[in-house]
Amino acid sequence: MNRLSETQDSIVHDQPGITRDRTYRYAYWQDREFSVVDTGGLVFDDDTEFLPLIREQVMVALAEATVAIFVVDGQTGLTGGDEAIAGWLREHSVPVLLAVNKCESPTAGLIQSMQFWELGLGNPFPLSSIHGSGTGELLDELIKYIPPADELEESEEIRVAIVGRPNVGKSSLLNAFLGENRAIVSPISGTTRDAIDTVVERNGKTYRLVDTAGIRRKKNVEYGAEFFGINRAFKAIRRANIVLLIIDAIDRVTEQDLKLANRILEEGRACVIVVNKWDTIEKDTYTILEYEREVKARLYFMDWAKTIFVSAITGQRVEKIIDLVDQAVAEHQRRVSTAVINEVIEEAVRWHSPPTTRQGKQGKIYYGTQVSSQPPTMVLFVNDPKRFNENYRRYMESQFRQQLGFLGTPIRLIWRGKPAREVERNTANRATKV
Ligand code: GDP
Repeated sequence: MNRLSETQDSIVHDQPGITRDRTYRYAYWQDREFSVVDTGGLVFDDDTEFLPLIREQVMVALAEATVAIFVVDGQTGLTGGDEAIAGWLREHSVPVLLAVNKCESPTAGLIQSMQFWELGLGNPFPLSSIHGSGTGELLDELIKYIPPADELEESEEIRVAIVGRPNVGKSSLLNAFLGENRAIVSPISGTTRDAIDTVVERNGKTYRLVDTAGIRRKKNVEYGAEFFGINRAFKAIRRANIVLLIIDAIDRVTEQDLKLANRILEEGRACVIVVNKWDTIEKDTYTILEYEREVKARLYFMDWAKTIFVSAITGQRVEKIIDLVDQAVAEHQRRVSTAVINEVIEEAVRWHSPPTTRQGKQGKIYYGTQVSSQPPTMVLFVNDPKRFNENYRRYMESQFRQQLGFLGTPIRLIWRGKPAREVERNTANRATKV
C-alpha cells in the first residue's frame, strides 16, 4: 500500500467525523491516476473477532474495484489460505494481479514466485515492498486496466450521475427531466453488468446520465438494497464528471448522504446538491435559507457545492438543475494560468506568512502551477512540505476559493518539496525560453 501510493505526496482527505471502513489512497503511475483501497487480512473458515467483518469489507472493495491485487508471501510459499482466496477471487469478475511479496532477491524471487502459477491467476509478479523492486512491473500491468485521464477529459459528453438513498426521488426526477427532453437509452459497451446509461441532448450539448438502470429498476433483493445501492452509486460516481446528490427534504442530510458526499470529494467530481420533495415542506420566507444553512453545515467539507430545492412531483425548479450542472462542469474543467496562481499565493502569503518551526525554520513557497483539471489540481513547490501544517494548508485552500471561485468543484493542492537550487535553475530556464 505504501509502495504504490508513494509515487507522489498521497492526497489523503482527512475529514474528522466521517468514519470510513476502508483506507483509500491516491497514487499514480506514468500518466494514470488511481486510488488504492486497503483491506484487512482475508481469512475463510474462521468467524472469530473481526474476520467476518473484514470479509464483508473485502467484498465491498471488490465490488467497486477496477482491478484487484492479490498479495501472497513469497517466503512462506503457497498456502491453503492462498488457494481459498484464489478460488473465491476467480468467481468475481474483477481482473486479479498476483503480487508475490518479500522477494528481495531477483533470482530467488523468480523461483519463489513460480509455485504461485498453480493458483490459476496468471503471471505471478515477484516484488519486494520493502526494497521497492518489482513494483514497477506490477504497476505497468496495473495501468493497462486504467483509462488515461486525457480520454476522460476529452470526451465531449457530460457524464452525470444521479445518486441518493432509496426513495429520495431519483427515478421521479429522472422522469421529470426526461419528460421534456429527447432521450436515448444506451447500454455501455464492454460491460457485462446491466448498467444502462441514458443519453440526452439539450441546447447542443450531450448529457450522459450514468447507469440509470440502477435507478429505473429498483430493490435488488439478491444483494440487499443497501449493499447493492451504495456500491452501484460509488461506481456511477467514478464514471461521472458531475454528480447530482439527491437529498430528501423530509429526512434531511443522513449518514448515507455523508458517505456519498465523501466519495464524490475523494473521486474529485463536480457536484450539485439537489434537495427534493420541496413541495412537502411548509415554508415561510426563511425556510430556504435555514435549510441551506443546515445542508452546508452537515456537508461542511463540500461547502463549495451549490444547493437547489426542487420537487419532482410539481416540477418546480427541475429544469434549473441543468444550469447548475453546466456551471459546475465549467468550473471543474477550468484552467487558471500560472501567473494568476502565483498572484493568489503571493497575496495569501502577504496576509499570513507560512509557519515557522520551533527550530526557527520557516516554510517557503517558491511557486505554484495548475497541473490538471477535473478537478482543478495545483502543485505548490515549497522548501519542505512538513513545514506547512494542516491549518496553513486549509488557509491556502480557502484563499484559492476566495480568489478563484471554483464553485461546484473540489480543488486539490499538492505540496511538493523542492530544493532551492533546483527551483532557481528552473526559473532561469524559463527565463531563457521567454
Ligand atoms: P428513488 O428510489 O430515489 O428512485 O425514489 P422514487 O423516485 O421512486 O420516489 C420515491 C417516492 O417518493 C415515490 O412515492 C415518489 O412519488 C415520491 N416522490 C419523489 N419525488 C417527490 C417529490 O418531489 N415530492 C413528493 N411529495 N414526493 C416525491
